[in-house]
Amino acid sequence: MILTHAHLDHCGYLPKLVREGFRGDIFCSAATADLAEIIMMDSAKIQENDAEFANRHGFSKHTPALPLYGRHDAERAIGQLRPVGFGKPVDLGHGAAATFRYAGHILGAATVEVRWGGKTVVFSGDLGRYDDPITPDPEPIANADYLLLESTYGDRHHDPVAPAEALRSVIERTTARGGTVIIPAFAVGRAQELLYLLSKLKGDGALPLTLVYLDSPMATDPRSCSVATAPTTSCRRRFAAPRAPSRPTRATSRSPRPSATTACPR
Ligand SMILES: [Zn+2]
Repeated sequence: MILTHAHLDHCGYLPKLVREGFRGDIFCSAATADLAEIIMMDSAKIQENDAEFANRHGFSKHTPALPLYGRHDAERAIGQLRPVGFGKPVDLGHGAAATFRYAGHILGAATVEVRWGGKTVVFSGDLGRYDDPITPDPEPIANADYLLLESTYGDRHHDPVAPAEALRSVIERTTARGGTVIIPAFAVGRAQELLYLLSKLKGDGALPLTLVYLDSPMATDPRSCSVATAPTTSCRRRFAAPRAPSRPTRATSRSPRPSATTACPR
């Protein structure tokens, strides 16, 4: 198994596969392994809680209602993760080799080139934007006999307005009339990017009187902020980081844990 990145729509079924008997290695980048651990454990806990709630209130047609998988299954899946580095071929056995390259998108995300039987197949995974404030640019793919390309937003152009400027405009307009801006955000990647942009705006002197709160059981993990070089924030705690954080290094090593999310935001 090869995992391109840790978003739940990519790693979320692994514990179920393990529960059904899959015992193979799961190759992924080191940062993806760190993130996938958090996301799979969180998903398992939610499913256990949902099953318990359904049984307590008796609204499931199943007796008893069971989770798709539990924390024990997630722990076993985590134990099968095999972190690998970027840019070097990894032996997959049976004459196949895989090379991971930066995809941008979220921490640890990779495109994966698989060579086997004289052919090259490239899986794009989810690709990030160029010039993203936090993640590295996607690396170009030199050649492939077959290219499997994810294309959630492949049919549209991104807004040419810089995200920080769009954010500043909305917040200033809303706060000027006494309003409050609520931003639903994916906890992995998008929450850290928002905090980075807000911190940068405040560091540049914009939004001087605006207080920022981050309310998320996972995105407030201080390790998640250190991953994304976001300012120090915590749930219901006043945002107090006027300095613009530095750009993070490329995701080449195991890193502190960022927070989790349930889908791919771009
Ligand atoms: Zn994704």
